[in-house]
Amino acid sequence: MNGRLPLRPNLAAMRGYHSPQVPAAVRLNTNESPFPPPETWRDELATELSRIEFNRYPDRQARRLREALAELHGVGADEVFCANGSNEALQCLLLAYGGPGRRAALFEPTYALHGHICRLTGTLTVGAPRDEGFRVDPEVAEGLVGREEPEVTFLCSPNNPTGAADPPALVERLLVLPTGLLVVDEAYGQFARQSALDQRTCPGGERLVVVRTFSKTWAMAAARLGYLVADPEVVAGCEAATLPYHLSAVTQVAGLLALGHREEMERRVALIAEERGRLSAALGALPVTAWPSDANFILFRPADRPGDEVWKELVTRSVLIRDCSSWAGLEGCLRVTVGTP
Ligand code: PMP
Repeated sequence: MNGRLPLRPNLAAMRGYHSPQVPAAVRLNTNESPFPPPETWRDELATELSRIEFNRYPDRQARRLREALAELHGVGADEVFCANGSNEALQCLLLAYGGPGRRAALFEPTYALHGHICRLTGTLTVGAPRDEGFRVDPEVAEGLVGREEPEVTFLCSPNNPTGAADPPALVERLLVLPTGLLVVDEAYGQFARQSALDQRTCPGGERLVVVRTFSKTWAMAAARLGYLVADPEVVAGCEAATLPYHLSAVTQVAGLLALGHREEMERRVALIAEERGRLSAALGALPVTAWPSDANFILFRPADRPGDEVWKELVTRSVLIRDCSSWAGLEGCLRVTVGTP
């Protein structure tokens, strides 16, 4: 980019969010599932693909998929909004509820795309740091939200890249503050014991938005499917902000069929959680600080060597993990996705 063409000024200063894709035999850098989706799902998908009327636009409402997700979570179909990955669900939310003159609250360090999508949509970010264990201090959170009155407050539970889930008490405390939406990004929600979906009936629950994805536990990162569960008014807001027919018929059917393999998915989650325990015990025997994780990844900091040096040496051994060592608040840290044994 040489800056001669009229790019929006708030984009000019932004670097894209990318994980370096270095060829490696062992890829543990983007928190994907180490397992492919079930064979039977592939066969079912092939059959369904042959039935799609490709000359027609897809169901704009993604009705069957939304109904199936609504059933999964015991909510109404009008409380589910589907998108091309949870990133797009977040983008629609900010297009609808953020934007110029509006604010979003973040607790750093957290998932970089929250801030990135805020900047893309012209939403101002207001932030507060997490504590030393990377937890959100409820007093600090209440202070920030009370002071700034943001239209949107982000939690990320479990938090990427630090790993811990937020306690239900934090969600309940923030829900009763009379300001804006509380968005809980649960991209890794199935790996944790608790979900903010249980807080939807708490006081202020109409302000709660829970975001989920098929990219991790459902082993479908390539399909690009995510969704949110929220009050019907919020779902209508997202629909107003999205493009017509944004979710292809292929994506819709891929997700719908995946929901028929829930037991298989839950078995894999249990396997990954077991492997996470093994990995975290093994890290405990190394000269590193590792943080407890409720997700499918672990953040750690080598004690005696710079993080980026360890990252490079792993690459020479064909192992790719995520180098977070230059991210604010994560100096020297690396993040490894839980893979197969
Ligand atoms: N939220 C969090 C916390 C994530 O880590 C990710 C993936 N890195 C996403 C959302 C986006 O996932 P996707 O768009 O693939 O659903």
